[in-house]
Amino acid sequence: MIKSHGYAARDKQSPLGSFDFERREVGPKDVLIDIQFCGVCHSDLHQVRDEWGGSIYPMVPGHEIVGRVAKVGAQVKKFKAGDLAGVGCMVDSCRECNSCREGEEQYCDRGQTVLTYNSRAKDGSPTYGGYSNNIVCDEAFVLKVSPKLNLAAVAPLLCAGITTYSPLRHWGVGEGQRVGVVGLGGLGHMALKFAHAFGAHVTQFTTSPGKEQDAIRLGAHEVVLTRDPANLAKLAGSFHFIIDTVSAPHDLNAYITMLRRNGHMVLVGAPEKPAPVAAFPLIMGRRSLAGSAIGGVRETQEMLDYCAEKNIVSDVELTPIQKINQAYERMVRNDVKYRFVIDMASLK
Ligand SMILES: [Zn+2]
Ligand SMILES: [Zn+2]
Repeated sequence: MIKSHGYAARDKQSPLGSFDFERREVGPKDVLIDIQFCGVCHSDLHQVRDEWGGSIYPMVPGHEIVGRVAKVGAQVKKFKAGDLAGVGCMVDSCRECNSCREGEEQYCDRGQTVLTYNSRAKDGSPTYGGYSNNIVCDEAFVLKVSPKLNLAAVAPLLCAGITTYSPLRHWGVGEGQRVGVVGLGGLGHMALKFAHAFGAHVTQFTTSPGKEQDAIRLGAHEVVLTRDPANLAKLAGSFHFIIDTVSAPHDLNAYITMLRRNGHMVLVGAPEKPAPVAAFPLIMGRRSLAGSAIGGVRETQEMLDYCAEKNIVSDVELTPIQKINQAYERMVRNDVKYRFVIDMASLK
């Protein structure tokens, strides 16, 4: 077994603390990565606190992982020791169903997507995530990372990046289209950067007047403050596509009404409680409301390559792992621009 050291939650009440554990030996198709940076995703906090139920403890969170390959198995083709590499939200799936064969492993038809942490590998052992010094992963789920970009700022692309890139691509967002981004946090700021890069006219919706300048800097063509309903009413029928990144309860109907005929609104944030949706705004205008989850391995690699070409990274604030609990408190208050990333050098 390979010795690992990281930070874990022992139960749903306790703060994260130092934790020693073991990972499997490097198998023929496995890659051992020395982790350099790991992004802090809002879903880490939800799972640490068991807010979605079924949490497995002790839990080492983290699914925005980047680092350097330390060792590869005998049959590994994509990587060699010394390469930069990344691991996102998944480490395995059934690999046989239609979704898996079509490169959409996150939607595995058999429900056998193995998540990077708080999940169980095919042998039943719990998976441990990136708040640690290393990880062992099958090369089929390891991403290539370009040395051109700031590595710490690449980490959040593995979840926040692909979660926003995938729906924008799936629904063909591009030039000549008007796109709305709801919420300016970890997900929202990436949606803004991608929609801008794809050539759309982008409107940022936010509750915070203080974020206007930042939204413009990140690529918004205009910013709309949502606290005043009149600002939204003026934009009825305006948008081809709206991506909603907000995980707090909010009124979806006000946004659906802002779609054009045949427009799509896609949810990537997940409020805990169901939200009422009125039928008429959908019917009148043939509008649709959809959801989207991360992206497959192939598309995640495409996104990373696109980011390297266009010089797109996340806006991050580095934190030592010893301050992860304070980082969680600040994340809950939206007091981060726009993603915490743990500098794993602090672990030593
Ligand atoms: Zn995430
Ligand atoms: Zn499958």
